[in-house]
Amino acid sequence: MNAETIVIVGAGQAGGWAAQTLRSEGFRGSIILVGSEPHRPYERPPLSKAVLSGDAHADTTSLVKPEAFDLLNIDWRPNVSATAIDRSAKQLLLMHGAPVHYDKLILCSGGRARRLNIPGADLPGVHTLRSIEDAAALGAALRPGRRLLVVGGGWIGLEVAATARKKGMDVTVVEAMGRLCERTVPPGMSDYLLDLHTSHGVDVVLGAGVNQLARNAQDGLTATLGDGREIDCDAVLVGVGLVANDELAREAGLECDGGVLVDAQCRSSDPDILAAGDVAAWHCEWAGRRMRLESWQNAQEQGIAAARTALGIAVNHQPLPWFWSDQYDVNLQIFGMPALSHQMVVRGDRNSKSFVMFFLDEGKVVAALGPNAAKDLRFARRLIERRTSVDPDRLADTAVPLAKF
Ligand SMILES: Cc1cc2nc3c(=O)[nH]c(=O)nc-3n(C[C@H](O)[C@H](O)[C@H](O)COP(=O)(O)OP(=O)(O)OC[C@H]3O[C@@H](n4cnc5c(N)ncnc54)[C@H](O)[C@@H]3O)c2cc1C
Repeated sequence: MNAETIVIVGAGQAGGWAAQTLRSEGFRGSIILVGSEPHRPYERPPLSKAVLSGDAHADTTSLVKPEAFDLLNIDWRPNVSATAIDRSAKQLLLMHGAPVHYDKLILCSGGRARRLNIPGADLPGVHTLRSIEDAAALGAALRPGRRLLVVGGGWIGLEVAATARKKGMDVTVVEAMGRLCERTVPPGMSDYLLDLHTSHGVDVVLGAGVNQLARNAQDGLTATLGDGREIDCDAVLVGVGLVANDELAREAGLECDGGVLVDAQCRSSDPDILAAGDVAAWHCEWAGRRMRLESWQNAQEQGIAAARTALGIAVNHQPLPWFWSDQYDVNLQIFGMPALSHQMVVRGDRNSKSFVMFFLDEGKVVAALGPNAAKDLRFARRLIERRTSVDPDRLADTAVPLAKF
């Protein structure tokens, strides 16, 4: 390939994988990795789990050990934000230092936690969770006997709720929609999550928004809900989604729509600029629509794909979506994109600790999810990848081994 300098914006998971892949594919040119955080690339999933609970140190989240990272011979620029792209000059402008030239530019700028737009949203004690620093600040507030209010019953909110219960806190989750994780799982799984959390002593309030947060006389916070109800707490975690960091791309005139629009080769509307990870939106064949996939798996695989495209290697980024979440003693995994239009087949007892929900489209397995069912889900994954046609009754029958399909 002809590129001499490849610049990556964002030293997160996608950016880290892109940088490593350039080297592992034999690229000998210059790699500049611009990251607004002080850290080398790291993985965020433990920030709501073991790092937040104090069971693991933040260092354990490193994508690559520091010594191995140094051997990659990357010009890493920590604490530096990219501020603009000059496409005609092929330059990236930086907050500190001279602009840098690029032959190929890979945008891996991820996203930031969405904030509440209500009075009191910025009060001390109101947290969001995206970075190592956020996890340290929130972790310090998780103390036994204290009260945590979680605003948002999505994955991050529920994982923090589970971690806070483990730390002996009283926890209330307030979710504006009618069910938990409504955007990502079907009603049956939302019901399971509701039972899981209420059985662990979490107070879950559905269909209610928080209208205001205020300091109270007890030196805590009081949240006022839309229906006038008040909830007193010592700390608040706001987990209401992510805003893609696509400003650089938008201001440079690249096509964006809630993220940088890319094709399955990770190319934006400018073929010398690619994007990967939480910031990138592409047509996901498994979902049948354009979307951003906010997941560990996608950040890694799309970061790798973008690097390969930058080097002129043929790629087609269409991985079967895989997501997991750990809450209490439950490991939940989702393969594919379950939709309300799919036929659901439950294998096992859905009131037990382990079962699998399969989703069929015209008789073919297209998605599966379940708690503590890693082995069955490995088979499920193969059924989905092969788009296997199944008899729903046999699939539901636990006496028929999945290997038979
Ligand atoms: C608390 C938490 C728990 C999670 N748990 C799970 C899980 O259990 N399972 C799962 O599948 N996924 C999980 N995820 C999602 C997963 O971690 C993300 O999808 C993944 O981190 C996305 O990687 P990324 O590289 O696209 O973005 P990021 O990792 O966010 O990296 C983007 C980087 O770009 C930097 N940046 C932004 N703008 C600029 C700029 N202008 N200049 C320079 N640098 C910039 C940012 O500071 C950041 O360091 C979790 C995420 C969080 C926050």
